[in-house]
Amino acid sequence: MSTDFDAVIVGAGFGGMYMLHRLRQKGFAARVIEAGSGVGGTWYWNRYPGARCDVESVQYSYQFSAELEQEWEWTERYATQPEILRYANHVADRFDLRRDIQFETRITSAVFDETANVWRVETNKGDKVAARFVITAMGCLSSPNTPKIEGLADFKGPTYHTGNWPHDGVAFTGKTVGVIGTGSSAIQSIPIMAEQARHLTVFQRTANYTVPAHNKPLDPAYVAKVKAHYPEMRKRAKTKPAGIDFVINMASAIETPEAERRRLFEERWAYGGLGFMASFSDLLLNDESNKTAADFVRAKIREVVKDPKTAEILTPKNIIGCKRLCVDTGYWETFNRPNVTLVDISDEPIERITAAGLRAKGQDYAFDCLVLATGFDAMTGALLKVDIRGRGGVALKDKWREGPKSYLGLTVVGFPNLFTITGPGSPSVLTNMLPSIEQHVDFIADCLEALRARGVSVIEPIEQAQEAWVGQVGNAANITLRSTCSSWYVGANIPGKPRVFMPYIGGLPAYIAACETVVKNDYEGFALA
Ligand code: NAP
Repeated sequence: MSTDFDAVIVGAGFGGMYMLHRLRQKGFAARVIEAGSGVGGTWYWNRYPGARCDVESVQYSYQFSAELEQEWEWTERYATQPEILRYANHVADRFDLRRDIQFETRITSAVFDETANVWRVETNKGDKVAARFVITAMGCLSSPNTPKIEGLADFKGPTYHTGNWPHDGVAFTGKTVGVIGTGSSAIQSIPIMAEQARHLTVFQRTANYTVPAHNKPLDPAYVAKVKAHYPEMRKRAKTKPAGIDFVINMASAIETPEAERRRLFEERWAYGGLGFMASFSDLLLNDESNKTAADFVRAKIREVVKDPKTAEILTPKNIIGCKRLCVDTGYWETFNRPNVTLVDISDEPIERITAAGLRAKGQDYAFDCLVLATGFDAMTGALLKVDIRGRGGVALKDKWREGPKSYLGLTVVGFPNLFTITGPGSPSVLTNMLPSIEQHVDFIADCLEALRARGVSVIEPIEQAQEAWVGQVGNAANITLRSTCSSWYVGANIPGKPRVFMPYIGGLPAYIAACETVVKNDYEGFALA
């Protein structure tokens, strides 16, 4: 059976772009289908004010090309969304990727034809394409969650979702604004919207932990040093669970004397960023240790927020790091502003959206614009929006009705020749996405090359291997406190979604080792035909 392409790649974010590059290098014909009008994935869609990556720019970048590493200049410790989008565009131009990317097109279905062993892919533009492989690179946080609050359509003003922000920006100057949500996107955007708006009302269901970014322009001497030692830094990063090169203090928080513990927390706090959770090795393993970090942050909130009642509402009650830790610039300080109001909706959901604003706890709130910072249907949302059907016409959404199951987060029993970059069961969202993406892509590209070399046309994981991996993902999750709260990691933010801890929390090094063993043992766990 002839095919139009060896592979169809879904999405032109960092995963899809690198996948295309690697497949081309190996002489495969690939076509990328991308819904947006440009490359960049999450950085194309999430254009809300203040959007920036909370992994340091020199680490949140590709490492596959030394030339690219040397020629690109990051300007800030944490890159802004526009800068990362410029980087994505630079990569697309530098490696001449656009000619194989079909923009403004969504895949609507991908059906495996068992008689010909090809995927038949259809798009919303009427394309019908046959390909040997389908490789999804759709992102883990790319399907925005618009909560089903009654009356949403009644609101007379504009409604914006942080995950699908207007490309021309939004002028909030002189406007009154309502914001629903206090996750990472809200915590980044609220301080900036508050500076612009006449009045900002924040509706908070769950208070969140955040650590200061201490963002700053990058010193050229520091950049030169990083550039001179990129390979060593990347190598060190790959030995760390999160794939980020920061120092993990291997001591236990509760076994460390209080004064010393406080000194170490202060040191990390002053440095800023996600490395705060690496102050001690057991913060996510032990309730008591976790409480020391949580109490430290709670005290910081009381130091900053002047009104004790507001400080109390902003103080998280749950485990620190259970929901994704946020990184901010001036978040709590924002609640000292006279034009900002915080409304606690933890005990009663919003009653309804009204024409003028919303009604919560029996009170009406009016505003000109509404911002939904309400997150995503994470890890499975984008995949399950497409009608993906494997053997016997079985739909992925039926296969995953009780929760996603995969082999290595990359492949699914019953769906031959389908690869899911950063799929559920992979470390992805618990790691620095760029090295994780590159590892996945290299694994897939090498696999396709190995199959071609031996004339194999179909690869599919076997049931026992998938069950064993699912068991490993579950066991790893059970060890940490991270699986114990209602987060998007377990699908708790989407009503009706099965509660399964979706990412693999065993760390990037363990995951890389597992993939290497699979390859070394001749694609152990896969059936090749
Ligand atoms: P999120 O963390 O899921 O936060 C969504 C917020 O909306 C939560 O406060 C949630 O409350 C609230 N919410 C949802 N439905 C609601 C409803 N019906 N009524 C009231 N409140 C509701 O989403 P996000 O902020 O977009 O972040 C998602 C992830 O994207 C992050 O965890 C992070 O991994 C990534 N991200 C990274 C960066 C970065 O690199 N700096 C920036 C943004 C996002 P509950 O907590 O009670 O559910």
